[in-house]
Amino acid sequence: MTAKKSIAILGSTGSIGKQALEVIQKNPEQFEAGALTAQSNWEELVKQALQFQPHTVVIVDEQYYPRVKEILLPKNIKVFTGEKALASVVQMDSVDMVLTALVGFAGLFPTLKALEAKKTVALANKETLVVAGDLVTRTANQNNAAIYPVDSEHSAIFQCLAGEFHNPVEKIILTASGGPFRGMKREQLENVTKDDALKHPNWSMGKKVTIDSASLMNKGLEIIEARWLFGLPASRMEVLVHPQSIIHSMVQFADGNIKAQLSLPDMRLPIQYALSYPVRRKADFPRVDFAKLPNFTFEPPDVKTFRNLALAFEALRKEGNMPCALNAANETAVEAFLNDRIKFLRMPDVIEKCMQEVFFIKTPTLEDYIMTDQETRIKATQIINTWKEW
Ligand code: NAD
Ligand code: MG
Repeated sequence: MTAKKSIAILGSTGSIGKQALEVIQKNPEQFEAGALTAQSNWEELVKQALQFQPHTVVIVDEQYYPRVKEILLPKNIKVFTGEKALASVVQMDSVDMVLTALVGFAGLFPTLKALEAKKTVALANKETLVVAGDLVTRTANQNNAAIYPVDSEHSAIFQCLAGEFHNPVEKIILTASGGPFRGMKREQLENVTKDDALKHPNWSMGKKVTIDSASLMNKGLEIIEARWLFGLPASRMEVLVHPQSIIHSMVQFADGNIKAQLSLPDMRLPIQYALSYPVRRKADFPRVDFAKLPNFTFEPPDVKTFRNLALAFEALRKEGNMPCALNAANETAVEAFLNDRIKFLRMPDVIEKCMQEVFFIKTPTLEDYIMTDQETRIKATQIINTWKEW
């Protein structure tokens, strides 16, 4: 019998993290939760730790550290706190794979540290590749460490490419659900609320990615993510709105043949594929019943209304630190929208202004990315605080 794969889940209390634990629970012979981490939801983290018995947990927010420690230390579970602890946990000898299920720029350092320690990374945290895709993929290559996608579209492409690695790809077609505001025009979007935006038609996810899905920034981030995972330029990637979310993406090869990956919209499938790659393990998740499905439809994205997608393509074409600035501006704008500080349609305005004003660096170092992230957040906050018409 082969040893179990020990997985460190960064962000185990989130939507992806919880679904990953379900996958682990259903495959106890293959996987174990070696380490679990959370930002501040200490109660859920403790509950998970008592159930899954990891050797280590990290509660990033230090104020909850004493409580978590008090409960878990007597159970022989090591407890750490602070952001730096994430970087240490991913390098532990006992960890085989790191699932990055945390949200935003915070994923960058632990991902780099995991790759430096030659760990396989199952990557859900797309922001890491958006911010510093060149540095992250270079670090992976230098250390011979693999990155397997968890994002459903990228998992679909990865599955379509299996057995095709030497065959020329003409283009990648990333599908998008279109989100809750599909078909709406700017006038209709002027006064939509966060509650409207948080009602995603097909997926139940964390708040940040749900707002990104409503604004189509999610698809923009995914185009940049795909550029680094699959090495194709923006000109060979297309976004297609497919509201039923059954086809998760497609690859068109040089001979004109197209492969697609289909399943119900259920993140446990791509999570399990990333954890068990290259093996497909039996799973009992609900199946597609084609006879009961509505018609498949396809339409181009409306980038005039949903400007974030056009801005992401622009950032990708410019490369350098521009995608990093786009991400920082977006994270700041989404947070302001979730706090009722700006309206939905102002988010692309903030991002565009930040992209215009950022100091452009063609080949950034890690320090340049950190600086770009910090300065863009300050700039975006200033714009939000001072713009009269908000
Ligand atoms: P979520 O908000 O539900 O969970 C985020 C998790 O990360 C929580 O456990 C939280 O404690 C932790 N966290 C948050 N901020 C942190 C920080 N600064 N430092 C350390 N930990 C932190 O998010 P989610 O929906 O699970 O998404 C996670 C990532 O996966 C995102 O990058 C998202 O874009 C991507 N993703 C999510 C889905 C989905 O279905 N939810 C699908 C595809 C990709
Ligand atoms: Mg996705």
